[in-house]
Amino acid sequence: MNRTATVLAGLAAVLLSGCKVTMSEGFDDEPDRDSFSSGFFLYISNTGEDFPDDSWSLNTAGEVCIDDTLYFETDSGRVRVYGSSAYSETDFRAAATELERRIDGVLSRFQLRWPEFAEDRSTAVRYPDHLIGCLSPTLSRTEFASASVAAVSIMPYASQWPYDTDRIITHELAHYVQENLSRYQARESLLPLWFAEGQASVVAGEPIAPVYQHHDYDPLLDVTVYDATTADYRFEHYALAYHYLEEANGQLTLTVLLDLIQFADWEGLDGTTYSGESEAFVEAFNTAGLVDHRNRYLSLDRFKTEYHQLLNDSY
Ligand SMILES: [Zn+2]
Repeated sequence: MNRTATVLAGLAAVLLSGCKVTMSEGFDDEPDRDSFSSGFFLYISNTGEDFPDDSWSLNTAGEVCIDDTLYFETDSGRVRVYGSSAYSETDFRAAATELERRIDGVLSRFQLRWPEFAEDRSTAVRYPDHLIGCLSPTLSRTEFASASVAAVSIMPYASQWPYDTDRIITHELAHYVQENLSRYQARESLLPLWFAEGQASVVAGEPIAPVYQHHDYDPLLDVTVYDATTADYRFEHYALAYHYLEEANGQLTLTVLLDLIQFADWEGLDGTTYSGESEAFVEAFNTAGLVDHRNRYLSLDRFKTEYHQLLNDSY
């Protein structure tokens, strides 16, 4: 074990003992679509709280909100939605309501409550106590929402939102949470594509490929979008690979894995392996003490080389 690995192992122990376990509350509290979370509009000229503009933490959709002068804040003070004054009050309220209603259910899948998330997320983000939204005209019905470390961007015109808005926002909030937990100040995601999408799909309750179909796809080879095929069903296989890890290790261990990746980033561990994973992910994966379904130590290498054998043996 090198020094980083030793530090990470120590941190894993601290995080495991320090995390409070939250019981999953599920998503059965369907919101009343006729009512919005209450709140109020504020001008940044009055509050000085302008949209976070650190480029490392934004994606293209979110950059649109940098110059907006107005935001809607929910009564809890937790959610803020920035956007142009050209959009209707309903657009702001609808987006804020979705974020406010979905975030606790998403966090419970990471075994976290909001105050714990605010503590665990990168200290490099501008407003750690807030969930920032952005009404972004770059989004449309085909790409309706998109998450970065700093903000969740949503298409502005609430009357045109797709029927599965709930699922899409839940999926994007999962990306928002995983990126905030796993990055300190890295410019790009440190998670392999299969892990990021698998986790977001599982959190959003999207389809998981049946275990007996594991031979149909090699999810662990899809490290970046450039590795991925165009097969639609690949997402179900990303979910299957992630689900296998979650079943064997529990949700909390995977949250600890994200924390360890952030710590490696904070330590300055950058670079990528020959197969494309970030060094931070590999180091954290191998240090988090992950196991297979028979409770045997599982390194990332073994998970990749023995994936089909492990899945085969697990049912
Ligand atoms: Zn996704």
